[in-house]
Amino acid sequence: MPPASSTHRRTAKAKKVTFEPKVEEHTRSGTRTAPLLTRFLTGIALISAIFLAVYYYYSYLLWEPPSTAKLEEDLLSPFQVVDLPGKGKGVIATRDIAQGELLLREKPLFLVPTHITSSPGALLLTSLARLTPVQRKSFYDLSYVNFPRDVIPDTPEYNEALALAIFQTNSIAAGSNVGIFPRMARFNHGCSSAFNSVYTWREKEGFLVAHALKAIKKGEELLTTYTDTKRPRDSRRRYLHTHYGFTCQCAVCSLPDDLSRKSDSRLSRMSELYSQFARWGDSSISGQEAANIAREIWSIGEEERYWSERGRLAADAAWVAAAHSDDVAAREWAALALEWYAYELGADSEQAHEMQNVIADAEKHPVWGSRHEEHVGGPKKV
Ligand SMILES: [Zn+2]
Repeated sequence: MPPASSTHRRTAKAKKVTFEPKVEEHTRSGTRTAPLLTRFLTGIALISAIFLAVYYYYSYLLWEPPSTAKLEEDLLSPFQVVDLPGKGKGVIATRDIAQGELLLREKPLFLVPTHITSSPGALLLTSLARLTPVQRKSFYDLSYVNFPRDVIPDTPEYNEALALAIFQTNSIAAGSNVGIFPRMARFNHGCSSAFNSVYTWREKEGFLVAHALKAIKKGEELLTTYTDTKRPRDSRRRYLHTHYGFTCQCAVCSLPDDLSRKSDSRLSRMSELYSQFARWGDSSISGQEAANIAREIWSIGEEERYWSERGRLAADAAWVAAAHSDDVAAREWAALALEWYAYELGADSEQAHEMQNVIADAEKHPVWGSRHEEHVGGPKKV
């Protein structure tokens, strides 16, 4: 609530209180001829009215009402933030959530540029000073790690270090900036097949959206991923421990060693295949080879149940097919990309719209016919 608005509300409410003596005056004049019981009841009613007026007046002064948008957000939200034993806070589905459903749309509390030349702590304190008390509280309520031990409390250095620790633990990339999104920040992490929610920044709209990558049952925890988890368990855990201060115990990290090894080799193979796929860029592999690699990534992803980035993968394959003037393949890959972009980024995302255009007319693809003609093949085998 902006300060100007609060002042306005208080002024408006104060007018009602100054109105009270008039009511009292009127009642007094009425009591002159009233019988004893009526006078007694009127007295009780009067005291109650004064009590209620004073009560509401002070309630109004002390309470900052939530905005309409905030109320709507809470009512419509398919999840709630709860305390989870041993994990701090987390997010639980309050009903069954369908694959691709919008989980949240959130504006940043504030954004800062990715690259700055001034002191990051001071910049954060300036950004925080511009927020309302409620917004500031939502920032300081967030958890943090890697706070320097040698800083003395109640000093400017301490305030800067605290703001920086909270920021570094919770910030999310937003185009060329980095921002704080207090609701999204409550999502815990899961690796590989364990995460079921994906967030993405919408530059044009200026907000973050999160979608359900998989169907989520009521009571299940909503997990996102803090990093690329297509790497072995030890490496993932090391990274997460260093940057976020926890040892990941997600469903994939908790697999028995033999199953964990199988999962690790699938994930490593996927990473390797992605690198091979990228070699089409400098013509090191043919369009057909690139499409074969895309199909293989897809099928290993199916085995691992790693579904993230599928929209992008199919869109890249559509790109390859369009470059080689394979009309059928380009449209088939684009249809697959549209389906998975809709799950991961939303059916209203820019990426989904681009795929609709390719499906409608592959020849309008920006790279159409930019390479030699080749039968690339669609995703049929996937
Ligand atoms: Zn994990």
